[in-house]
Amino acid sequence: MTITINAAFDSGNIVVDAIDGTSARLSIRKDRDSDFFQWFHFRVACAVGDALELAITGLGDSAYPDGWPGYAACASTDRENWFRLDTNYEAGTLTIQHTAESPILYIAYFAPYSMERHHDLVAQIAECEGVTYRCLGTSLEGQPIDCLEMGSGDTQVWLYARQHPGESMAEWWMEGALEKLVDPADPHARSLRAKCRFHIVPNMNPDGSCRGHLRTNFAGVNLNREWDNPTPERSPEVLCVRNAMDESGVDWAMDVHGDEAIPAVFVAGFEGIPSLKPEQTTKYKAFETALAANTPDFQVDLGYAESAPGQANLSMSTTQLAERFGAVSMTLEMPFKDNRDLPDPVRGWSPERSKLLAHACLQTLDQLL
Ligand code: ZN
Repeated sequence: MTITINAAFDSGNIVVDAIDGTSARLSIRKDRDSDFFQWFHFRVACAVGDALELAITGLGDSAYPDGWPGYAACASTDRENWFRLDTNYEAGTLTIQHTAESPILYIAYFAPYSMERHHDLVAQIAECEGVTYRCLGTSLEGQPIDCLEMGSGDTQVWLYARQHPGESMAEWWMEGALEKLVDPADPHARSLRAKCRFHIVPNMNPDGSCRGHLRTNFAGVNLNREWDNPTPERSPEVLCVRNAMDESGVDWAMDVHGDEAIPAVFVAGFEGIPSLKPEQTTKYKAFETALAANTPDFQVDLGYAESAPGQANLSMSTTQLAERFGAVSMTLEMPFKDNRDLPDPVRGWSPERSKLLAHACLQTLDQLL
């Protein structure tokens, strides 16, 4: 039987170049009006026992070619439980081999976080005790930029994710964070809600999420390069969030991401901003050290090269918030591959570990405040 492959669904992305029996030659569609591509998500319909061989070609030109060596594709038969597949990368082609154990197999760059699940999450959290829902604005295609607020303290904490829509682990992290913060029995959550006001945006880029983009919104704009000058035409998603931040102020902020190449969990900070204050750096370093003590899934000193003094790129949210508000802000990166110091060969980095990392981050914040 000849297999069929389809990606016409929420966050789907694949181009079928050829199918021959149980083998297929595939490629990844670029983000709309942009050259970025790396995210894939598609469905294979086949016969149980089929020896599938799926080759995704042209990856030498992808956004992060270093993301492919050592990477294993994610798959699910029920769209709940995700595991890794036998995957090989050579000369721009990722080859996935698998003997089908079910008639339908979903394959993705990482376990997807659908917009339907996003709406379920927002609705469930919004009706919890003490939570306020705010729609901060709309995306270019008219989707809501959802914000959930809670807590009675004075410390303003902003958590936001998925500026880069293909980094779906970021919204799994958000699900973990929100579930913890609304748990009436959780001691860290109770303590944090007494000390802080939380403003939580689980998905900054719903259009890119739906469209199966890696990095950009509907207009092909990388939202994490818009924070110095967001506009209604290019980046209303950033503009509405930054306006809300201007109203509240920002003391702490976490921008949640996934990293294609580095097999580790780490944070990147704001060391090159012009107005850098020593206490900002002290608090940032203390958070890093405490988080490493709280979870072996976090590693210190694996981040990007630090910017020289005064040389920070203020179009990125972490540096913009540190400069604009004097905030302790950070970009949290989780791997598409795995934490190489604590690998899980069956699942790799996973939704479950993303959620547990969020718990550890919040526990750490509580300890520092
Ligand atoms: Zn990112």
